[in-house]
Amino acid sequence: MLPEYEIHAIRYATREAQRRDHFIGGDPHDGPMPMDYFTWVAVGRAGAFVVDTGFTAEMAAARNRTFLRCPVDSLALVGVDARAVRDVVLTHMHYDHVGNFHKFPNARYHLQAREMAYATGKYMRYPRIARSYHVEDVAGMVRLNFQGRVEMHDGEVEIAPGIVLHPTPGHSDGLQVARVHTRRGWVVLASDATHYYENMATNRPYSTAFHVGQMLDAYRVLERLAPSPRHMIPGHDPYVMREYPAPRTELEGIVVRLDAEPIAPAPTFPTQAK
Ligand SMILES: [Zn+2]
Repeated sequence: MLPEYEIHAIRYATREAQRRDHFIGGDPHDGPMPMDYFTWVAVGRAGAFVVDTGFTAEMAAARNRTFLRCPVDSLALVGVDARAVRDVVLTHMHYDHVGNFHKFPNARYHLQAREMAYATGKYMRYPRIARSYHVEDVAGMVRLNFQGRVEMHDGEVEIAPGIVLHPTPGHSDGLQVARVHTRRGWVVLASDATHYYENMATNRPYSTAFHVGQMLDAYRVLERLAPSPRHMIPGHDPYVMREYPAPRTELEGIVVRLDAEPIAPAPTFPTQAK
């Protein structure tokens, strides 16, 4: 029998934004559409699997993000000691997903080989592509690889019973998502394969894209991987914090449990164009 993991989503930063910022081609119903930043951790008998490491307070200041708490220190809120973590999944190497990689002294890092090739490859000469990466993060991951601590995967891989990684390129060339087995079935941590529920539901890609066609195809991969639309968790959508329960009252607004049933209705959108 497959193990069942608890999944915690920890909200570590936020920023104000407008609807037009989040869709290629803008949005006819422009208005506020804030963005939240998360780190995720799956906890089971085999230990804790961290998915993405967020950014630092220094990076938040440099990029004008509202930093709420250190994503790595916040793991303690759900009983996870970063020093004890053996496995960190990096969905991709954008600055908001990889920034605290140096705070897991005993972990190995699971990455698609294609993401490392992309982040160190020819397209980084273009600011439009490179701006989502921080060169010191990329250099740091290269150093970790020289220490033998990066597991570079070529495609789908089960890194532990009940934890499977799937490539979903488009937003970046080597983006992957994590599928985690829980008490309510498989839950897909989509990360930036869809920033918001609305990107995928209306087939309108997020504004940061390497390959638009692949990004749209990634939505189909998410549909295939998730047992229902309510088993797919977007990477930056503030609705997730209202949709799922906090593990305990003092963590409301900080942590939600994604292995629990939703406590709010499915999200709805101003536009449902297909
Ligand atoms: Zn992101």
